[in-house]
Amino acid sequence: MTRAKPSGFGIENLPKIARGAGSYLYDDTGKRYLDGSGGPAVFSLGHAHPEVNAAISAQLDAIAYGYRYLFTSTPLEELTAALRRVTGGGFKDVVYGGDGSEAVESALKVALQHFAARGLMKKRHFIARQRSWHGDTLGALSISGFAARRRAFEGSLLDVSFVSAANAYRLPEGCTAATLVEHLARELEQRILAVGPDSVAAFVFEPIVGAAGGVVPAPPGYAAAVQAICRKHDVLMIADEVMCGAGRSGTWCALEHDGVVPDILAIAKGLAGGYIPLGATLIGAAVAAPIMSEHGAYMTGHTFSGHTAACAAGLAVQKIIERDGLLERIRTTGASFQSALRAALADFDEVGDVRGRGFFVGVELVRSRATREPFEAERGLSFDIGRRAFADGLICYPCSGNVDGSRGDTIILAPPYNASDAELEEIIAKLAAATAAALAA
Ligand code: PMP
Repeated sequence: MTRAKPSGFGIENLPKIARGAGSYLYDDTGKRYLDGSGGPAVFSLGHAHPEVNAAISAQLDAIAYGYRYLFTSTPLEELTAALRRVTGGGFKDVVYGGDGSEAVESALKVALQHFAARGLMKKRHFIARQRSWHGDTLGALSISGFAARRRAFEGSLLDVSFVSAANAYRLPEGCTAATLVEHLARELEQRILAVGPDSVAAFVFEPIVGAAGGVVPAPPGYAAAVQAICRKHDVLMIADEVMCGAGRSGTWCALEHDGVVPDILAIAKGLAGGYIPLGATLIGAAVAAPIMSEHGAYMTGHTFSGHTAACAAGLAVQKIIERDGLLERIRTTGASFQSALRAALADFDEVGDVRGRGFFVGVELVRSRATREPFEAERGLSFDIGRRAFADGLICYPCSGNVDGSRGDTIILAPPYNASDAELEEIIAKLAAATAAALAA
């Protein structure tokens, strides 16, 4: 039996965190770390932001939590209004939770409840994609195409169908870049028809794949094409933007870039920027209507859903992002960050691809650019780079298994939205140094 490692980096003796300030963290020995990945793409405003802390502190002084079945609150109402506004009015209701897994779990349950309310009790089946990650609860894990994380739970997971990942760097067999979108849309439709449209509840996907793919934006036209297929067969489209959403890619929703509004949207991580755990499931009016008329409420949520202090944290983070024009900054700086990173890694033939959008960038490592063949899993190249970067005071997010579930090495960078130009340059320089050292070893 393999023992669980204490961290994704494989670091056995973790340093002890002491404090943070902006884009930097400090351990109890005083060592400084630049947070180049927001941990796992969480810290949208960096650490110890005085205004966010003041908003949380003021809320705690007033009341930590007004239990959701007894009270509403100003932070909850204002955050809900803000979420409706920043998502362009495409969603009617918001169900809050503590993290990304809960947000996804609620999305699945709301889809099932929608069809139950319409008397379509056969529509229970989910279709998801290979090389995807949706979370750790049994439902969210069931729709995740991440072999290593599923293995210990096989036999107790939901029966879910998986279709191909939308990855232009690793094309499905028999398909070219030009035919990719058409190929994937056809595959999805064939799968819906094979299962039976009267049995399929929803199609779930990450508009930009995070940990399971190493930042893989779907090709242009993909989201609109799969949405058309879903609508044709009365299948709901659930977008999991837990990692790529809440502004990280330069638009508040990643799907805004594609001009597509999903039926249900799951968000978390950057929403409250890591200050207090917070996730949310946003539900479109057409999904909500039968639920409200038949059941009167969403049958999902937990004791702490809509926690007042967490909503105050989320609201403070969102207000600062809007006031300081940080999405605009991500849009204008993201492209130059990505091209500077590409230039810094250009001499390594093992850097196969640098991709992403905004402040969500992935580096894929391969044996050679020409073959795109991955390194053997045992080498643990991405974790080696992550460990070396960490030792040198840079936090990045190494991932493995993006090629076939075990082989494949990627590094994710997801800096705070307010990281300075100098900090972005430091991230690039330190990642290049760690990559050089790991490849030379
Ligand atoms: N969906 C996606 C796309 C994610 O990246 C993650 C977390 N990595 C989750 C869901 C689950 O979120 P959490 O770990 O906060 O439960």
